[in-house]
Amino acid sequence: MNPIVWFNNRFIPLSEANVNILTHALNYGTGVFEGIRGYYDETQRDLFLVRALDHYERWKKNCAILRIDVPPAPADLVELTSELCRRNEFHLSVYARPLAYKASARIGVAPDNNDAYAVVVIPFGVYLESDQGIHAGIVSWRRVEDNAIPGRAKICGAYVNSVLATDEARRNGFDEAIFLTESGHVAEGATCNLFMVRNGQLVTPPATDNILEGITRASIMELAKNEMRLEVLERSIDRSELYQADEAFFTGTAVELAPIVKVDHRNIGSGQIGPVARQLKSLYFDATRGRLPQYARWLHPTGVHTPSLVTA
Ligand code: PMP
Repeated sequence: MNPIVWFNNRFIPLSEANVNILTHALNYGTGVFEGIRGYYDETQRDLFLVRALDHYERWKKNCAILRIDVPPAPADLVELTSELCRRNEFHLSVYARPLAYKASARIGVAPDNNDAYAVVVIPFGVYLESDQGIHAGIVSWRRVEDNAIPGRAKICGAYVNSVLATDEARRNGFDEAIFLTESGHVAEGATCNLFMVRNGQLVTPPATDNILEGITRASIMELAKNEMRLEVLERSIDRSELYQADEAFFTGTAVELAPIVKVDHRNIGSGQIGPVARQLKSLYFDATRGRLPQYARWLHPTGVHTPSLVTA
């Protein structure tokens, strides 16, 4: 697969979108990325990007933390992503990976203003199989602290934290990792946010517990409040509370909604997928496929069956 990507302000094949070995971002982790899904809908014969504007707004704010400049406005970046889908004639579901980075090729950590960005869109399906529910394990690595490397910023270097956690979890036989914070509270998964259902309330760790403030997390909170009239709380969660939860699940662009049926070899609730997770998963599926008109505002049509508009 060699799709057309946006790199160095041009549309070129992915195989030609390469960087120098001394690139600052490659050596020091000074990149900021995003992950955006697009779902193809057969009925409407179009590919819809999910909350693409929110993702690009978050990206630009996160880039500002590392002082990386991405000149285009978020709406133009959404249009660029749509154009990539059209050029590649993607009539299937996709994942878009915008990446902004410190581009100078030299030795030395001091950053300069040589910033670059790229957008890659590739076909994408299920990321984490969760039809039977998954078994998560709390890992020995702690979630990166905001005053060390801000976890909310989706900084490339910070993902070493997620890589270490995923490696440990998988080698120990779990499907996915759960991070605790340095203070011992439940933070999130390696690439996803975490929710539990306890005493009829939907609870998720607050933004101040070193989580990435997920866009799927926000969508699920909105669906839970509006469509299920659930009380949703953002508060710290103890490890042992999670063991006693009635239900738990992960959310994220890639994992979508993944029900957790076991944590650390302990059943969550009945050890089966619970009713809240099941209903929210189905609501999220319908909302992201354009089947719930009240959430059509989350979707951006790419127009993949119309000819390319840009000729750059
Ligand atoms: N936490 C981490 C560490 C992540 O990498 C992601 C994926 N972006 C998430 C949570 C979920 O965020 P979102 O719903 O915006 O994809």
